[in-house]
Amino acid sequence: MAQGGERSGAGRRRALGQNFLIDQDVAFRTVQAAEVVEGSRVLEIGPGHGVLTRPLLAAGAQVFAVEIDERLAASLIEKDLSGLTVARADFLRFDLDRLGAEPMLVVANLPYSTGTAILERLLAFPERFPRIVVMLQKEVAQRVAAQPGSRSYGSLSVLTALWAEATVVLDVPPASFRPPPKVDSAVVRLDVKPTPRIPVADDDAFRRVVRAAFAQKRKMLRNTLRVAFGDEAPGVLERTGIDGRRRAETLTLDEFARLTSEVVGLA
Ligand code: SAM
Repeated sequence: MAQGGERSGAGRRRALGQNFLIDQDVAFRTVQAAEVVEGSRVLEIGPGHGVLTRPLLAAGAQVFAVEIDERLAASLIEKDLSGLTVARADFLRFDLDRLGAEPMLVVANLPYSTGTAILERLLAFPERFPRIVVMLQKEVAQRVAAQPGSRSYGSLSVLTALWAEATVVLDVPPASFRPPPKVDSAVVRLDVKPTPRIPVADDDAFRRVVRAAFAQKRKMLRNTLRVAFGDEAPGVLERTGIDGRRRAETLTLDEFARLTSEVVGLA
């Protein structure tokens, strides 16, 4: 992997999702969407050359930036910008205790390859990160914010909806980056609740149910749930009153929670 320094040039940039934002207006509007004020504590993941970092600092934020690329991290540290702390690290392995206990806003232009994994990690700490404003591949941003019945609705939508209200706030075309990526991007804002938006019997069981239901999105629930829960699946559906001929993409958060309660009851 690129972290080991085995790649250089274009390969390295691709592996780390290094499409740098060159449109200052997009940077400014992303910071605005996060409602940063004087003294806001902000975590930025992947600051790159600092195109988002500068407007964050200009808005008065105290920024803690985590950058995996040694050269980029070193170059930012060298600039010695007031209000900025830089850690050279992979955010997916980063020790969050280094951020202190106070909640922080998250503002970032995430790498395409690991954007979803990074977002899932952030959502696993709702009390730490109450507002998250991130740029992602447009399709992923749409999935994050999708509502039941829409084409983009999938497991990422449901897992996000349990903790957060998500809104796509800005579409960003390839020409806003250097080098331009092959895909469109979008900025999504997540307002994260300290507790799940509806009670679920068990977090892990909820994930299992959601992932199982969407494993084959176009198939009926009675088939997809049978793969994960075997002969118990028809009884689970019957007890929740959910029609097994429906597809996962039509289920609401509340219905997933009801399925979870039944699945926990099996254990
Ligand atoms: N924020 C800059 C901008 O908008 O121009 C750079 C954005 S670029 C899409 C993604 C950045 O994330 C790159 O600087 C890359 O080196 C960094 N990065 C990639 N994977 C990372 C990880 N796991 N942890 C921290 N930074 C990472």
